[in-house]
Amino acid sequence: MRQVPFLSLKDVTALHEADINAAVTRVTNSGWYLRGAENERFESDFSSYVGTAFTVGCANGLDALTLIFRAYIEMGLMKRGDEVIVPANTFIATVLAITENGLVPVLVEPKADTLEIDEDRIEEAITGRTVAIAIVHLYGRNAYTSKIGEICSRYNLKLVEDCAQSHGCRTVYTDCSGNKLEKVTGSIGHAAAHSFYPGKNLGALGDGGAVTTDDPELASVVRSLANYGSSRKYVSDFCGRNSRLDEIQAAVLDVKLKYLDEDNAHRQTIAGFYYDNLPGGLIRLPLRMPDESNVYHLFPILVGGGRRDALAEYLKRNGVETLVHYPIPPHLQECYRGRGILKIPYHDGLPITESIAVEELSLPIGPAITVDDAEYVAGLIRSFV
Ligand SMILES: *Cc1c(COP(=O)(O)O)cnc(C)c1O
Repeated sequence: MRQVPFLSLKDVTALHEADINAAVTRVTNSGWYLRGAENERFESDFSSYVGTAFTVGCANGLDALTLIFRAYIEMGLMKRGDEVIVPANTFIATVLAITENGLVPVLVEPKADTLEIDEDRIEEAITGRTVAIAIVHLYGRNAYTSKIGEICSRYNLKLVEDCAQSHGCRTVYTDCSGNKLEKVTGSIGHAAAHSFYPGKNLGALGDGGAVTTDDPELASVVRSLANYGSSRKYVSDFCGRNSRLDEIQAAVLDVKLKYLDEDNAHRQTIAGFYYDNLPGGLIRLPLRMPDESNVYHLFPILVGGGRRDALAEYLKRNGVETLVHYPIPPHLQECYRGRGILKIPYHDGLPITESIAVEELSLPIGPAITVDDAEYVAGLIRSFV
């Protein structure tokens, strides 16, 4: 029987093994393991790739998000109790970064057919205390729309992007003067957080993260906060923390960045195959976007009729691993439930978010999945339906 793992990191690393090993050996032999030439090179290459003036490496994606809000607080632009709009169906880390800073997450419903934050449900969630919108390019799909940009300008809100799942994703949109723009996610908002967790589209061999921004003050405050709050050795301007990207991870990421577009193109091929070959009816697929606007970090399908877990079980029995992103949305998590920490701005709760948690199933996708694998998965799903 064919075995299709959800994501084999061993196979992913093997694709670029020689280059990766050379980079690791170079750092090992250099005798310099933190805050050195490898970070400088990666930060500069990543800034050019994303299209921002600054990249600041840090320890992981959650830290990148947390440091952005913390920096805005240090800069006097946000304060405890201020509200941040965030998609209700995001991964818990986006919400943790907000509550960690004493800010209030305001949970906005996604659209049922895109699974991304619903631009038409944002304005009713804005109050006098709203300071930012945190968009999440969930599943690798661009979540930015020009309407979100207009809302940010009209209400003077910071736009923070969570790009943990969207490395290399592009957005094409028309600005308020009618100009057509194309940007890579991470350069759209005022600040963006990236995760280089091994399973992400741009993944390290361990933890890693970064903040990208065009704002020189934000970049320097984040850099300082991530290094004990110190920008000159032994001089502390902030009560900071230690959140650094190590030299080995920076060197590995610089290698993998070169292959990112190629790896994403492969994901798009697999996704195209799924779109063309999965059955309808019980199975619903998110609206298909132009390829450049979806780098398919995940391939979510929605399984109706209460049959999601049965399909997952059937696939598993036939050698195919799937995952659910995410089975428990943030507002139903033990750490938040009933504590009045999160704000739900609607009278009728979050029915779309809750139905996604019940229906979503992520199929195998990634640089090491073959079209034959995808054909096997699609065939199984057709026979299940
Ligand atoms: C992975 C992820 C994070 C957190 O990144 P870590 O590096 O694991 O801390 C944040 N947001 C989203 C949407 C993610 O998928």
